[in-house]
Amino acid sequence: MSLDAFATNLLQWHERHGRKDLPWQRDRTPYRVWVSEIMLQQTQVATVIPYYLRFMEAFPDVLALADAPVDRLLQHWSGLGYYARARNLYKAACEIRDRHGGRFPETFEDVVALPGIGRSTAGAIMALAHGERHAILDGNVKRVLARYHAVSGWPGDSAVSAALWQHAEQHTPSVMTAAYTQAIMDLGATVCTRTRPACFLCPVSSGCQAYELGCAADFPAKREKKARPLRQTHMALACCKGDVYLERRPPSGIWGGLWSLPEFDLEGQLLDWCSERLNAEPVTIERWTTLRHSFSHYHLDIKPVALRLDAVSGRVADGASGIWYNYETAPDFGLAAPVMKLIENLKDRQEGP
Ligand code: SF4
Repeated sequence: MSLDAFATNLLQWHERHGRKDLPWQRDRTPYRVWVSEIMLQQTQVATVIPYYLRFMEAFPDVLALADAPVDRLLQHWSGLGYYARARNLYKAACEIRDRHGGRFPETFEDVVALPGIGRSTAGAIMALAHGERHAILDGNVKRVLARYHAVSGWPGDSAVSAALWQHAEQHTPSVMTAAYTQAIMDLGATVCTRTRPACFLCPVSSGCQAYELGCAADFPAKREKKARPLRQTHMALACCKGDVYLERRPPSGIWGGLWSLPEFDLEGQLLDWCSERLNAEPVTIERWTTLRHSFSHYHLDIKPVALRLDAVSGRVADGASGIWYNYETAPDFGLAAPVMKLIENLKDRQEGP
């Protein structure tokens, strides 16, 4: 397909104003593009850059990632959130090692079959790393196309998504596909932004229907908002001589595979757990202020309870499901953000006057 006016204008704009110095634009291997695309889902470029640089230093290629302990990967992901992305990245790396002989697959079908890689991410890898003609439809591109073609409805609806994919396919050129793909992502990130798009700077404003109608902000339509439910949990900070007891969370669900503080529905269960699991009675019990952590689908009120222990007979911890972690040392495993916050607080109280 030759270039339509949309692609032509976009490419000319990109030549002068596009972002060309992002770390994943250097040495564009499928592996490097893949990791960047996964990190950029739900996360801003500025946040991703330092994580990406550290990640590439630790895991320079797909085999380095597949052969690393999963805890090391989760440690590098700590703070980025949406941990299912990291777990899928690891699963896919192992699949590439075990089923593809350690080489990143080269066809769209093989790439899209890997865990955690959808049609848009596979398209971005094929277009950016191989220059092959594949359309993408990430959040930025959805916004640009919904506005340009005045596509109404929430993009999560299958009919709306199908219409947007059709536009994405139509505009994607068969030449300069990598530059075009980067250009449309950049336009969404820097000009056709979620709030207050800079239409006066936009290279495709002359054909944009939302601009012509003066209602860019109405596209794409938002999902009907449901109030997020509130859940509660008690977290035990069982401390003994500079160590705090941590448990590994189950592999799926929130913070899957990360180390966390033991959780209880009721405060009364904490003391039973302490005597049964740790074979100890706390010397002091402190109830800390509730900490709210919000997920996309619910709020979690965490009620921390610090249990100071003089001694723990046998220091029951098998290393697989439970560990004593010396909180003065940097963890070499992944911890969820609110758990990190509570451990920092523990440290501060320890060091206090
Ligand atoms: Fe987005 Fe405005 Fe450009 Fe239309 S004219 S694509 S709304 S920035």
